[in-house]
Order: sequence, then structure tokens, then C-alpha cells
Amino acid sequence: MYYFDPHIHMVSRTTDDYETLAKMGCVGMSEPAFWAGFDRGSVESFRDYFRQLTEFEPSRAAQYGIQHYTWLCINAKEAENVELSREVIKMIPEFLDKPNVLGIGEIGLNKNTKNESTIFLEHMELAIQYNQQILIHTPHLEDKYQGTRMILDMLTGDSRIDPTRVLVDHVEEHTAKEVLDRGFWAGMTLYPVTKCTPQRAADIIELCGAERLLVNSAGDWGPSKPTAVPDLILELRRRGHSEALIRKVVYDNPIEFFSQSQNFSFTSPQ
Ligand SMILES: [Zn+2]
Repeated sequence: MYYFDPHIHMVSRTTDDYETLAKMGCVGMSEPAFWAGFDRGSVESFRDYFRQLTEFEPSRAAQYGIQHYTWLCINAKEAENVELSREVIKMIPEFLDKPNVLGIGEIGLNKNTKNESTIFLEHMELAIQYNQQILIHTPHLEDKYQGTRMILDMLTGDSRIDPTRVLVDHVEEHTAKEVLDRGFWAGMTLYPVTKCTPQRAADIIELCGAERLLVNSAGDWGPSKPTAVPDLILELRRRGHSEALIRKVVYDNPIEFFSQSQNFSFTSPQ
């Protein structure tokens, strides 16, 4: 089955991973900007990073028949440096017309601090000003429930935000329903350590239905599994779900969501 991984950090993966993903049916992916594992020191580091996301990764992916898209921002982990964050936000419009840019992301909260909220709102303003879609990172573990509520309140508190153009990622059992009920799209992240297992993601699909629900591997430089989406496909088949339902979650839904971005010009291999 063909699938689309809507959240994967290929800058930290090898070319062998692209080959493996292609062999497993991955035909498209979207890569949000994220933390490098260490704090970057200047706006120039981000300019180079955004060139990597908009020039180098799409050509590396294309060698394996994978269409690569991306999202731009400064990650919440670096938002405590408000001055640098503002310089990066000011520079982002230089890249918004690049052909693989889908919007602003992954923006969100990490430890739910005041500076993180400030920078989140400034990213939101940028997205509104340039009519961009938004991809949201929700915090981990003990900070997730409160952080998700704070993020949803900031988004719904601004009537200019259209929830159908926002994807809220890393949802789990205790946050998925509220995200969907408030009109947003929701993404589940399959991680070997924290976040969802394929079994828990299958449970959430059975609980919430497949409308506006996406699944990703969030493969990055930490313990993660870039081929986690095929694991979920297998789990759903094992439970007797139809091919149509599986395809909706791993292929049709991401394409429907991304199609709201002006730069999304995906060509289906079928
Ligand atoms: Zn991520």
C-alpha cells in the first residue's frame, strides 16, 4: 500500500532510510522544522537549515521517488531566546514561496512557559499574515494535557484561524478527542519509547473514527522508527479493518489536509 508520512525529520536520517521507506510504499512525506538536538546560535544557522529543507532534502527524496514537503519555524525549545526567535520569524518569508513549503510548523509548546506562548502567538500571526497552514507540536508526557489545552485556546481565541487548516500533532488517548471535536486535524506519532505504539494508535482510530486523523513516524535523530507507519498498517489489517479505512488514514487524509496549501502539488503514483 502506498502511504504518506506527514511528520518525519529526514535531515537526521540517512539516504539508506529513504531507500527503505520507498521500498515500504512511502511516496510522500512532510518534514516540519524542529530542534537540532542543541540550541542554534544565530539566524544564519536557520537560514542554512531552511535551505537544507527546501533544496537538499527534496532532491535527496526524489532519487527514491518520494515527494518531499516541509514546514518552517523556530522550535519551542529555542523560544526562551526571544530575540533570536523574532529574527528567525522575520526571515521565514524569504522561503515561503519555495515549491515544497506547506506552511508554518512545527510550532507549539515544550514546557508551557510564557516565552513559548509569546513566540507561538507571533508564529500564528505570521501564518495569518501569509495565509499559511499550521502544523502544531504538542508537549510530551506530563506537560501534554495542559499544553494541548493552552495551544487549542490560543488558536480558537483568534477568529482569523481556520481549524480545518491546522494539524495538531502527537495526540494521544487523552487529547485526540478534544482536538477533533474543536474542528482541527489530529496526528498520532508512533514512537518506540514515548508517544503512541501502533496498537494504541489503532485503539484511537477505533475510538475516534478515521475522519481528520493522520499517523506519522516523526523519525528523527533520537530513538525513533522511520518505518513505523507500515507497522500500523499491519496492525490495522490484523484487526480486520478494511483496506479503504487504512488507506484513508495513511494516504487520503494527509493528501486532503495538505491540498489546502497553495504549494502542494502532489502527483499520485496511481
Ligand atoms: Zn517533530
